[in-house]
Amino acid sequence: MANMSLTKNEMPAQEPQVRNQNFLEVALGYSKEQAIDEANRCLNCKHKPCISGCPVRIDIPAFIQETARGNFDTAYEIISRSSSLPAVCGRVCPQESQCEQKCVRGIKGEPVAIGRLERFVADYQNTYGNTKLTKPASNGHKIAVIGSGPSGLACAGDLAKKGYSVTIFEALHLAGGVLVYGIPEFRLPKAIVQKEINALKELGVEIATNVIIGKTLSIEELQNEYGFEAVFVGSGAGLPNFMNIPGENLKGVYSANEFLTRVNLMKAYTPDSTTPIQKGKKVMVVGGGNVAMDAARCAKRLGAEVTIVYRRTENELPARHEEVEHAKEEGIQFKLLTSPIEIKGDSNGWVTGLCCQEMTLSQPDDSGRRKPVPLENSAFEMEADCVIMSIGTSPNPLIKDTTKGLSIRNWGGIIVDEATGLTSLTGVYAGGDAVTGAATVILAMGAGKTAAEAIDSYLKGEGAS
Ligand SMILES: Cc1cc2nc3c(=O)[nH]c(=O)nc-3n(C[C@H](O)[C@H](O)[C@H](O)COP(=O)(O)OP(=O)(O)OC[C@H]3O[C@@H](n4cnc5c(N)ncnc54)[C@H](O)[C@@H]3O)c2cc1C
Ligand code: SF4
Repeated sequence: MANMSLTKNEMPAQEPQVRNQNFLEVALGYSKEQAIDEANRCLNCKHKPCISGCPVRIDIPAFIQETARGNFDTAYEIISRSSSLPAVCGRVCPQESQCEQKCVRGIKGEPVAIGRLERFVADYQNTYGNTKLTKPASNGHKIAVIGSGPSGLACAGDLAKKGYSVTIFEALHLAGGVLVYGIPEFRLPKAIVQKEINALKELGVEIATNVIIGKTLSIEELQNEYGFEAVFVGSGAGLPNFMNIPGENLKGVYSANEFLTRVNLMKAYTPDSTTPIQKGKKVMVVGGGNVAMDAARCAKRLGAEVTIVYRRTENELPARHEEVEHAKEEGIQFKLLTSPIEIKGDSNGWVTGLCCQEMTLSQPDDSGRRKPVPLENSAFEMEADCVIMSIGTSPNPLIKDTTKGLSIRNWGGIIVDEATGLTSLTGVYAGGDAVTGAATVILAMGAGKTAAEAIDSYLKGEGAS
């Protein structure tokens, strides 16, 4: 019987004052009963608007109907036809601006908790499930994928399912891209990412870590010496931006990328970590996106008093609403309409404070955006011993600089044909943050899947080269 409750089943979670002192997952997931109850809120609409909000087009009503019936294996099988990382997407996708935004239950109340149900089905499968992916017969073609983030994993997975022999080349010592080096353990446990990567390995995908394309090997070598018939570039946008203000080279200033990599990938929060991190007492995080929230919440868990410094108001914070709420509950302070102008240091070169100015928002410009404008004579200083810059990232120029003929936008993004992911080079495709700049997991996966389709057509002599 349909559940006509106007609100979602709540997600059980660790208490804020407990979780802000540990790195264990914050959200605890639905029980079987909660999942079935939530699935019964779905009306199984004929025109299925939720699917149009999903960049990889999961058959959402079908998997929810199976969940409502308690057929969790079938639900998983339906999701995995479209997504190779359901436990990841169920946790980190911005459902509120995608599938759930289109859900008709959202007109008069809260939408169906599609993301929480996806997470439940994937976790149930990981714990009890029997659905095994079987390695298909090889079709004899070799494909190289550069980068093991969501775009590379999605592309590799789809090609492997079609019988291609796929090798992923990853610069770091662990596969997963931002899923392992960026997003913290308390939002996305690394064991979950590893399970989904293991599932790809079972399909036959090989992963060569510690290989930097552009240094260890070039794209040309992959094609001409190693016989890869097509190459997918999913190298992400891992180069941090800075503000270019005085003091950014002081000790105690981190890019969010470095800070999060030390904490998440190198487990700097454990006492025996070989890659240490400065445990600040007063930490300022500059920026307002998901990355800033993650850095702030990690710093809090390392014992600091943490303030987010953002130059617009709370309404413009680019981070997911849920992440902002979680950060506030955990005791992170927000200094809004504030922009840094200088980082102060002592005679030993260590950070001592952050000088800022107050901002106001202009009238909306032609695009409707209100620009932050400094208020005159409003400079002030806040005490700090660590500053984390989280104001965006760009694609690393290494592949561009070492690949002749690869067309690139002036900000560093690789230029591709949107419908196929084909770059300016024959047989070379690209997608994810390397093409769009920093975006989302599911968009990166969508791009990886598009390129996999196009590579398949190309090698069958049907499509673009
Ligand atoms: C801290 C943080 C939090 C985020 N939170 C969310 C969230 O909650 N929800 C969401 O949807 N998105 C989130 N994002 C964004 C999302 O993670 C990215 O959009 C997504 O990971 C991009 O995927 P990708 O495959 O393009 O690249 P990446 O995940 O960046 O992976 C690229 C991989 O390529 C490797 N590589 C780079 N250059 C080379 C080379 N030359 N040779 C070999 N390997 C190379 C890198 O080491 C990396 O492993 C977050 C990002 C960050 C940084
Ligand atoms: S729009 Fe909402 S209610 Fe309708 S099928 Fe999709 S999830 Fe179910």
